[in-house]
Amino acid sequence: MASPAAQKRVNVAVSRLIPPVLLGAVVYASYAVTKPLCIDYLLHPLPSYNRVPRVGAGAAILTIYYVLLIPMVVTYLHLYYHVLWRPGYLPVGDQKLRDEQNDDDEKRPEKSRRRRHRKKARKADPEKTVQSDTDVERGAGGVVSQSDLQLESFYTQDVFVCQQDGRPLWCSTCDQYKTDRAHHCRELGRCVRKMDHFCPWVGGVVSETSFKFFIQFVVYTCIYCTFALIVSAYFTAEIRRNTGAANPYWCVCIGLSALFAFFTAGMTLSSLQMGIFNITTIENLNRRTAVWTLAIRVPEYMLDRLWDTESPWAPTFPMVSYPPEAHTSNQPQATNPPAGERHVFAILHTQPGENPFDLGTPFKNLQQVMGHSIAEWLLPIKQSPCADHSSMESHYPFGPVVTRLKQEAGLMPPGDGAVPPTPHSGRSQPEGNTQT
Ligand SMILES: [Zn+2]
Repeated sequence: MASPAAQKRVNVAVSRLIPPVLLGAVVYASYAVTKPLCIDYLLHPLPSYNRVPRVGAGAAILTIYYVLLIPMVVTYLHLYYHVLWRPGYLPVGDQKLRDEQNDDDEKRPEKSRRRRHRKKARKADPEKTVQSDTDVERGAGGVVSQSDLQLESFYTQDVFVCQQDGRPLWCSTCDQYKTDRAHHCRELGRCVRKMDHFCPWVGGVVSETSFKFFIQFVVYTCIYCTFALIVSAYFTAEIRRNTGAANPYWCVCIGLSALFAFFTAGMTLSSLQMGIFNITTIENLNRRTAVWTLAIRVPEYMLDRLWDTESPWAPTFPMVSYPPEAHTSNQPQATNPPAGERHVFAILHTQPGENPFDLGTPFKNLQQVMGHSIAEWLLPIKQSPCADHSSMESHYPFGPVVTRLKQEAGLMPPGDGAVPPTPHSGRSQPEGNTQT
């Protein structure tokens, strides 16, 4: 059995190989429909067919075929471009950058001596290396590390996905915090924003930057293949009835178009389902049991009374505050921070199977991927709205589940349609309470 590394290399190699194979299939089908079918059989029938020309049918088939081919090719090129050049990678951490630099050096013979020298230096002082690794992850020593800067992009928002202690999710391979819904792609060795799946058919990873074009591509390919299948099957049946023979080009065309029509119809249905539920293929794997842990901002006006443990308003949910205390570590504080620039979050949990990103209706969910106008739905123009991260509220819009969590915890401001906050209205406290 192949090792994971070998399997990874095979997957990447296959993903690079398949696009030219697909191109070959399209060129072959286009030739089969244009020359043997439309020109040699319908427009100017070869003498062996012994038929009168059917110019109208030939012209109509040629026109429809190429009209259907254009959107398929354009969306594929758009998809391929985004998969290769705008894949939606998260930046990597300092340590990962250093490791990659070392790997690059190893590939350059002229730098081999310097590399060996650095390796020796590390060997001579193993404690220093360990300390350095720890510092990068925990931000110790009061130095503003890259991870501190990354943290800021989380705690300046209103809601983010977190661990049990309130810190954002961490990728130890990339050495950085993972934004909501990011997933580490094994094949590419990088965290990808809202990664959907690794797709060898398009040469890489389908993510928030390319999922819309992926849906458009499978829909247009399904329509194109279905048309090619109907046309080649119809005239194959006709010629068999009249002459008892079959055209080999049309037969291959039937096989190819049936295969890809069936495949893309399945992909269309599953992709639309993901869009309708606002989940990714990866999130869908444990959709029915997943429990999301969310850090939800506590409004400023509630802070003082929440930290008073004698008060009837004292919450039953754990809380964390940012920014982390510089003199200890980047562990979030669990005490009432001084007034001013403080960001306090309640750590709340969804029920198993709830999707906090579900915006409430299938149409609103699909709009997050496809856009807000008919042109955006049909044409490969503009990025998906979910790939716009300019909002200060969260990395991705949250839906009614988060609204309900806020209401239950008494975190909604008065007059916002919320149930009035009552003492101890928060959800039951999970294990690992970080409040002191
Ligand atoms: Zn990663």
